[in-house]
Amino acid sequence: MEPYLYCPLCAERLDLVMMHGRNRKFCPSCSWVHYINPLPVAIAFTVNKNDDLLLVRRAHEPAFNEWSLPGGFLEAGEDASDACLRELMEETSLKGTIENLIGIYQKEVEVYGSLLVLAYRVRVTDASIAINHELFEAGFYPQHLIPDVRIPLHQEIIRDAALYELVH
Ligand SMILES: [Zn+2]
Repeated sequence: MEPYLYCPLCAERLDLVMMHGRNRKFCPSCSWVHYINPLPVAIAFTVNKNDDLLLVRRAHEPAFNEWSLPGGFLEAGEDASDACLRELMEETSLKGTIENLIGIYQKEVEVYGSLLVLAYRVRVTDASIAINHELFEAGFYPQHLIPDVRIPLHQEIIRDAALYELVH
């Protein structure tokens, strides 16, 4: 993420000032402050009726060609759980229902900056997949035989989903 150089309200050159414990861009003319907030993301840990796990191979950056869980950014005004099911539907045509929240995660990603990630466990009954342009492939795998997931956040969500199952 490129930092702002000029005030988006009045076009004055921004200063860098220490404010509320962080260095922030500040407009000396109109007092606008650049508060940087994370982008919210919803991720779907999706299982079918046999508890097989849905994994997708990404056809776009970041993590091009990597196996992952489906998911994407929330739209403004959208419930996180709705965003989770919408992203699942857009990527795979699967219609799911939310079972539970697995966890909330904070990640720094070079292209997007700070992300706030909400991971849900999702159940699908009709498991016929039709992928969109964002993916190379998608499939349900027995949870002990899944492809090699190398994205640390997604590894963490998969671990946490298993832990959640153990304690509930
Ligand atoms: Zn200004």
